[in-house]
Amino acid sequence: MSKLNRAWHDAHPMPANPTLDQRVEWHLAHTVHCGCRPIPRLVLEELARRGIEPPSPAN
Ligand SMILES: [Zn+2]
Repeated sequence: MSKLNRAWHDAHPMPANPTLDQRVEWHLAHTVHCGCRPIPRLVLEELARRGIEPPSPAN
């Protein structure tokens, strides 16, 4: 993991017991800014349900 990604993670911890909304928001931002791991299937399914195109990973 690069320095930049570490900084992003430090600044954006996943909330404890996140709601689906929070998970969706977090993974959208994470994929754009870091992308060290893929979006989980549950979140991908929710994006599809909302008609949101998954972003391309940053790296
Ligand atoms: Zn990451």
